[in-house]
Amino acid sequence: MDRIYNFSAGPSMLPVEVLKKASKEMLNYNNTGMSVMEMSHRSKVYGEIIKETESRFRKMMGIPDNYKILFLQGGATLQFSMVPMNLLTKSGMADYVITGNFSKKAYEEATKYGKINIAGSTKNENFSRIPTQKELNLDINADYLHLCTNNTIYGTTWKYIPKTGSVPIVADMSSCILSEPVDVSKYGLIYAGAQKNMGPAGLTVVIIREDLAGKTLPGTPVMLDYSIQIKNESMYNTPPTYGIYILKLVLEWLEDLGGLEGMKEINKNKANLLYSYLEESKLFKSTVSKDDRSMMNVTFITGDADLDSKFAKEAESKGFANVKGHRAVGGMRASIYNAMPTEGVEALVEFMKEFEMKNR
Ligand code: PMP
Repeated sequence: MDRIYNFSAGPSMLPVEVLKKASKEMLNYNNTGMSVMEMSHRSKVYGEIIKETESRFRKMMGIPDNYKILFLQGGATLQFSMVPMNLLTKSGMADYVITGNFSKKAYEEATKYGKINIAGSTKNENFSRIPTQKELNLDINADYLHLCTNNTIYGTTWKYIPKTGSVPIVADMSSCILSEPVDVSKYGLIYAGAQKNMGPAGLTVVIIREDLAGKTLPGTPVMLDYSIQIKNESMYNTPPTYGIYILKLVLEWLEDLGGLEGMKEINKNKANLLYSYLEESKLFKSTVSKDDRSMMNVTFITGDADLDSKFAKEAESKGFANVKGHRAVGGMRASIYNAMPTEGVEALVEFMKEFEMKNR
């Protein structure tokens, strides 16, 4: 079995230990004579799986009791609609900060449901940094402030939580959830698609402060009503059962690594390997401001588009998959989520050094 280093932005690598355990349990889960995929979501044995996933997740992220955890479908993208349908229910106004492609999409979707203010944007600087608190133009009457904490395509991360007074913060954490500790109490709602740090595509996790659910805009579909999902413990209909089970295995794996503190140290070290080389390289350079660079998605360029594509091709042939940058920005991007082993990053840096020697 030859697994390669997959630097895809998502779906991305899963821990080998998790895949092995899933494969061991594939044909006969816990003497049930069936796989988790084949089980009724209402069965006792599946009930135990989802409950354990929930309690492990709560413990791992230190989620306070007044927050609910939901296991939904529709990707992070459905949250772009679900958030305004449920939260734009007081003043009908919300603030959005645009720091990349996904926060822009979230903003555009929200404009269908209320009065949306762009509270900050770094579009004019090609999203190479995050706006400072001073640059934010926040409305104290907003129903919420929306931001995307890690910008998967541009490779930037919010290193601070904006001060908003009593306005709840809604955060898209799709590409950084479970990569480091988070003070959940500073947020009103957190959502993330699973396919980077949590499991297979098809599962979306939402963490919501209970008091924010309850009201919806007229015409909100039943499936998109947080309070219905809370009341039914994510089982109004069939939840993404297998994805939830894989998340449980990922949480077990994380616990063995020392939880989110342990994971953060590993992730910091991996990102530093790449960023320190980028700082000294005469060929490659980072595309983002040093203060805001992401621990999960490392974007870089040579400055020559032909050389960039030569690099991506050669990397692919050497077993470093998916290092080509997103089509919207070009260049390169190495996504180094939790499951990317340190050796994968070390090997990539070695390959970059060799490439630099040959192409200087
Ligand atoms: N937000 C962020 C930060 C993302 O990285 C992505 C996917 N790459 C999305 C939203 C969209 O997620 P999905 O495909 O799960 O709808």
